[in-house]
Amino acid sequence: MSALPIFCYHNVLTAPADAAFRLLYVSPELFERQLWTLRRLGLRGVCTGEGIARLRDGTSRGCVVLTFDDGYADTIATVAPLLQRYGFGATCYVVSDAVGTYNHWDAQHLRERKPLMTREQLGQWLAAGMEVGSHSRSHPRLRDLSPHAARHEIAGSRAALHDMLGVPIEHFAYPFGSFDVEIIEQVRHAGYRSAVTVAPGVARASDDPLRLPRMLVNGERGLWRFLLQLAAPRARLRRRTP
Ligand SMILES: [Zn+2]
Repeated sequence: MSALPIFCYHNVLTAPADAAFRLLYVSPELFERQLWTLRRLGLRGVCTGEGIARLRDGTSRGCVVLTFDDGYADTIATVAPLLQRYGFGATCYVVSDAVGTYNHWDAQHLRERKPLMTREQLGQWLAAGMEVGSHSRSHPRLRDLSPHAARHEIAGSRAALHDMLGVPIEHFAYPFGSFDVEIIEQVRHAGYRSAVTVAPGVARASDDPLRLPRMLVNGERGLWRFLLQLAAPRARLRRRTP
């Protein structure tokens, strides 16, 4: 059966000395070694759209999906040039109301303000051959919202990003990995073709495309652990949270 590893990154940046969650930072050097390793293994990084189309057609062998959450400025400054050097694609999940600002949803908790891509930079990301998906309007825990407020976040961000960037927005990432069956229904109703979670695992053709597992790339672990995520027995990676 077709399988598709979907990797989840946040910042590709050297972690500040006082960073609260260093694991969210993958250094540019480690990131480049990861890309080099993927290519060396005969694998190609692709965006979510290509990945799920191939998963459905049974042609996902040799592909890994590369995803970048939140839309940090380093995604255009550091990630895009490296992806282009390797001929890889990727998807960035963007918080539509926060474009050009900072991570207001966790800045206080992390005690770090991290700049987010501007509209122009998102245009450059698209021009580099990459994909933009939605990560809601304001990065709330969707499960905690009223149905009306959740619709505003899910359908509203799709419309806002489409208006802003002039491209269809077909893929969604649940902020904080928060969803339930009602939220999935709203994502379906809004017209998204896929949605990614933070439940660890490798995506399968038989999976609900609106509940795809991902593998977090932990910047505190070296290349060896990254390789293990690719090579680990698939069954062990399929632990799901309800
Ligand atoms: Zn996020």
